[in-house]
Amino acid sequence: MKSERIAIVSDFDGTITLRDVGHHFFEKYIPDRKAHRDLLEKWKIGLISSRECLEKEIAWVQAGIPDLDSFIENERLDPFFKDFVDFCNRRKFELMILSDGLDYYIDSILMRYGYGFIDFKSNHLVTDGDRIAGVEFPWYLPELCDMCANCKKAHVDKLRGEGYFTVYVGNGYSDRCPSKHADMVFAKTDLLDHCQREKIDCIPFRNFRDVEREMMSRFYLSD
Ligand SMILES: [Zn+2]
Repeated sequence: MKSERIAIVSDFDGTITLRDVGHHFFEKYIPDRKAHRDLLEKWKIGLISSRECLEKEIAWVQAGIPDLDSFIENERLDPFFKDFVDFCNRRKFELMILSDGLDYYIDSILMRYGYGFIDFKSNHLVTDGDRIAGVEFPWYLPELCDMCANCKKAHVDKLRGEGYFTVYVGNGYSDRCPSKHADMVFAKTDLLDHCQREKIDCIPFRNFRDVEREMMSRFYLSD
């Protein structure tokens, strides 16, 4: 397999971060826990879209920006992500983050770790001073996918159209769409179950060291 023009596209919540940041934030700050659980159940079985789910969560959350700031201070990255970023830079691989979560915490966490240079595409949290004021969906394309808010398959297809061999890394529901479109898929937890059920070719992984090692061997790279 040739090693040039490779784009690695990674999910953020629970893939680059150890926890699903958005999910845990809403879980902590939405007072009606039962309503929130019911909402997530409906989303998981496809009764409502990610966009509807996120709009409700934003409407229900009882927290301000200072709460969000202090919440994300505790979030940690996969301990091997730093080495993986170095690996991509050394090899001149494109690295892009695609998220169906919110730009505010992705940007903040990436900046804190010194990864402000990594390109990411996500939904947009609207703020008004210290207030969480709403959510916008700059990448919403209902004609392509009416279940995701920021459907990652469109971004993967664009990269493939530009001639990239696409490597997708993910763990959750929003990674289902791109997993059918990427050239190579690394999957863990819910995405791994999904790929195995749907017979989508994938490579199981636990952390970014596994991804790096597998890429080294599959692309015949040497140290
Ligand atoms: Zn989709």
